[in-house]
Amino acid sequence: MTNEDPASLAGLAYFIRTFGCQMNESDSEHMAGVLAQAGARPADAAESCDILIVNTCAVREKSEEKLYSFLGRLAALKKKRPGLIIGVAGCVAELRRDELFGRKPGPDFLVGPDRYQDLARIVARASLARALETGRDDVWHEFGPSAIVRESPVSAYVTIMEGCDNFCAYCVVPFARGREKYRPLPNIIREVEDLAQRGYLEVQLLGQNVNSYRDSETGISFAALLRTVAAVEGPSWLRFITSHPKDFSDDIIDAMAASPKICRALHLPLQSGSTAVLERMNRRYSREHYLGLVGLLRKALSDLSLSTDILVGFPGETEEDHRLTLDILREIRFANIFSFRYSPRPQTAAAKLADDVPAEVKAHRLIEVQALQKSIQLELHRSFVGRTLTVLVLGASQKGGCLLAGRSEGGQVVNFVPAVEGIGRFAQVRITSVGPYSLRGEEVRQA
Ligand code: SAM
Ligand code: SF4
Repeated sequence: MTNEDPASLAGLAYFIRTFGCQMNESDSEHMAGVLAQAGARPADAAESCDILIVNTCAVREKSEEKLYSFLGRLAALKKKRPGLIIGVAGCVAELRRDELFGRKPGPDFLVGPDRYQDLARIVARASLARALETGRDDVWHEFGPSAIVRESPVSAYVTIMEGCDNFCAYCVVPFARGREKYRPLPNIIREVEDLAQRGYLEVQLLGQNVNSYRDSETGISFAALLRTVAAVEGPSWLRFITSHPKDFSDDIIDAMAASPKICRALHLPLQSGSTAVLERMNRRYSREHYLGLVGLLRKALSDLSLSTDILVGFPGETEEDHRLTLDILREIRFANIFSFRYSPRPQTAAAKLADDVPAEVKAHRLIEVQALQKSIQLELHRSFVGRTLTVLVLGASQKGGCLLAGRSEGGQVVNFVPAVEGIGRFAQVRITSVGPYSLRGEEVRQA
């Protein structure tokens, strides 16, 4: 590589290691697209690549720790192959730029979430001297549908917004990803139409706070966007993530009810069952509001599968607060939860509070939450035995053998014995046995 022409990446192999949520996975697909357009090809493993990018989320302390231990291992790889170009991307690159850039040996380049469109140029530069490309701006950076290398040929993420304006007291996202900006509606529609033409069967609209989407040209709301995307012929299933209980308006419920294409599944982060904790978290809804919203949703959408996030050990969380969280889990009976123990994050409001729930108490509360949820899931799953579910077939099952794996409309993982070969299709699967985290069955042969 002798100049900054992105075409000079031709013949080089790239490898991207992603830590984090769907947003990070989608960002990695965009980065892969930029590198591929500049002529680079994917490598099978970190050991055989020329460009290695670690894309990391900064939401929890644990993800950051994973990055530092991964960078430690990479230092050994770099010793053996000094020509290897190592980059760090994502929220951590934005948030910890000085620390990361000061490391010796450190990464060859850092690239923040608002700079991925320049990735090929940055990599070319980094082969000559270390490069630092972070910072945020207000404009929407469009990649174009063909500039994304997607992991799945079946289900696709479509980004509709970036950043977040909510400033929940524990959360680093508004600092790492900046304020909300919305993707223009025509670009979203174009991408969904392109996916339809390529035979994608599922589209997942993506953003930190999708309910507050507003098209800057037309003022179109999230509910109107949902209706417009659902009207595009092609993908049969439409999902969206993440919603916020304070922004989940009646017209979103109406839009969901009006279209059978919109999956009867919703991720609605609760965080805590205690209104006092929710207030201190700056979530701007109460336990009662959340329960009322779940009531409305379940009335309007039969068979709705609800999932949530639970955060234990927020500063000042008492045993009584924790009990309220356990109680609400029993009352709502979520299909799935993601549970975390609180860790203070830089720049957030909660970082100024004493992290006063002892580590062992946080660990114990997390175990209690997870054990309760496990028993609820097992009970819920048992009610599926004998039923036939429509399953989107995504790939080979991790359980091995000749089993395939897919997801039901409600989001349950289904491992099954296929009647016919192939993924990227819908299968009718009769559920024969269940565990707390997945279902098992046999494909029903179609006449
Ligand atoms: N925008 C979504 C929302 O409103 O909930 C998700 C944001 S965050 C990327 C995903 C989850 O990480 C949060 O729902 C929260 O439970 C967890 N999380 C965020 N900050 C955290 C922290 N400081 N410590 C532990 N978990 C955290
Ligand atoms: Fe973080 Fe709250 Fe925004 Fe979700 S809504 S990204 S938890 S600040």
